[in-house]
Amino acid sequence: MKGLQRIGRSWLDVILPPQCPISGEVVGERGQIHPDVWSDVHFLDGAVCESCGVPFPYDPGEGAWCTSCLTYPPAYDQARAVMVYDDVSRGMVLSLKHGDRTDGLCTYAVWMARVGADLLRNADVIAPVPLHRSRLWIRRFNQSALLAGALAKEAAVPVVQDLLLRTRATPSQHGKNWKDRRTNVARAFRVNGRWQGHVSRSRVVLVDDVMTTGATVNACAKALKAAGVAHVNILTLARVVRPAHLPI
Ligand SMILES: [Zn+2]
Repeated sequence: MKGLQRIGRSWLDVILPPQCPISGEVVGERGQIHPDVWSDVHFLDGAVCESCGVPFPYDPGEGAWCTSCLTYPPAYDQARAVMVYDDVSRGMVLSLKHGDRTDGLCTYAVWMARVGADLLRNADVIAPVPLHRSRLWIRRFNQSALLAGALAKEAAVPVVQDLLLRTRATPSQHGKNWKDRRTNVARAFRVNGRWQGHVSRSRVVLVDDVMTTGATVNACAKALKAAGVAHVNILTLARVVRPAHLPI
């Protein structure tokens, strides 16, 4: 079977040579990032807020929280992202969103497992931020579910794709400020009835593609904690970083 898969893949590579999921240039293996692009990826591997994972322009020492988290402590425990959401990562996220280019998934999962190693170490379950049924029907793919599945495989942690349900189709968060986003997604999520009672005192890693203001993952964390989940940690591929936060 493995041999057949290999033959199938090599034929596929002849017809459709593996492309870099970011630049589209031909690469040696599926999911590989072209060396020219590598230096353009803005990885969040420096000092970050212990709580929300926003990068600090300087290292304030271990365990420091940003002003925003100190003022409005999030409902989740910790959030970490692989990279800054910018032109480069936008291309990755969009190709996942439209489901046409999923060959980068394995690479993204390796990156997420690395940046989230501490969060995944004692995790009981990985779950994606859900899409509402109506949006899933239009788009066919939930990119967060794709990422959650790939990460679960990489980190060897069970995944429950339907742990959370989106109870109403919220208008797009696009163009909304933090306060409006928070109102928009308030009480939009609940734990699926079939998992109620199974998650109490557990540690959940919630996966999303992009963290913008954190309003969505915060609403999800509230729903999970209301169901008795002990720890909710967030892992995303990218996160929006305001210019003031960008490391020099
Ligand atoms: Zn913070």
